[in-house]
Amino acid sequence: MKIGIVGLGLIGGSLGLDLRRQGHQVYGVARRADTCAAAVMGGMVDGATTDLASLAAVEIVLICTPIAAIAPTVQALAPHLAADTIITDVGSVKGAVVQAVSPLWPRFVGGHPMAGKAEAGLAAAEADLFRQRPYGITPLETTDPDAIATVHALAESLGAQVFICTPEAHDRAVAWISHLPVMVSSSLIQACLQESDTPVRELAQHLASSGFRDTSRVGGGNPELGLMMARYNRAEILRSLRFYQKQLATLTDLIEQEQWETLTTLLRASHEARPGFVETDPKA
Ligand code: NAP
Repeated sequence: MKIGIVGLGLIGGSLGLDLRRQGHQVYGVARRADTCAAAVMGGMVDGATTDLASLAAVEIVLICTPIAAIAPTVQALAPHLAADTIITDVGSVKGAVVQAVSPLWPRFVGGHPMAGKAEAGLAAAEADLFRQRPYGITPLETTDPDAIATVHALAESLGAQVFICTPEAHDRAVAWISHLPVMVSSSLIQACLQESDTPVRELAQHLASSGFRDTSRVGGGNPELGLMMARYNRAEILRSLRFYQKQLATLTDLIEQEQWETLTTLLRASHEARPGFVETDPKA
């Protein structure tokens, strides 16, 4: 297939590496000429330009820009494409994106590969980023089944496990397992920085090991992505943060009142529930 990728960063570059390896012809569009040159040099694309019109002949376009740029990009791209071209995106929020883009392009299918890294940009792109990872696809009732099937097959070809759901269900679900963790993890880092005893704070930094590395990883990631999650999935992030605040208040009360048995029950319930969320995974 001839495939276009708009936005050659971590996700766009990683997709390009995998899709080219499968034998697809991949053409990129970036804002800057030096990004285009780097993507060709890095083997992420067969060719790249700064001109959306260069994608006129592709069969499917993957929009891999930041969330705020997805709808404006589709609007600018639409006049250059053949009517049967499929457009999909990789944005981490689906309700706002699907609502804005669907009226612009009938063969649009929302998508979200659930894989990332702390680093952003093309230099962080890597092959096999999506292997054994979930991939959400969020069609509407009106979405063309052929377009859904094509995006489904493309996601599976990356080694990802596809889940089809509504944009609303996606946004509520990812608030729990992706967007809330970013906010919680960022708050953890901020709370540690509030230690006013400088030698103790520095000692904590020296003693931090795998536990802190795990719990601070997503909070120390791309700030732009965290901001976009909060702006575009605001209602669901707020809902999950309120549940989380209640949970913290419960924990605080239990510890203040030395209710060790109840605390043990709660910690045991979390220990038993975790495998339902996270399988044992050597990549994790
Ligand atoms: P990224 O590494 O910062 O890449 C985004 C790329 O888009 C940049 O390299 C930038 O390239 C380009 N870009 C920025 N603004 C643009 C604009 N207005 N028009 C056209 N291109 C623009 O970010 P990313 O992590 O790949 O995220 C891209 C998308 O993937 C986002 O929608 C995000 O929600 C989604 N996503 C991210 C993750 C993750 O964990 N990182 C996971 C799943 C999905 P130039 O600066 O060179 O132009």
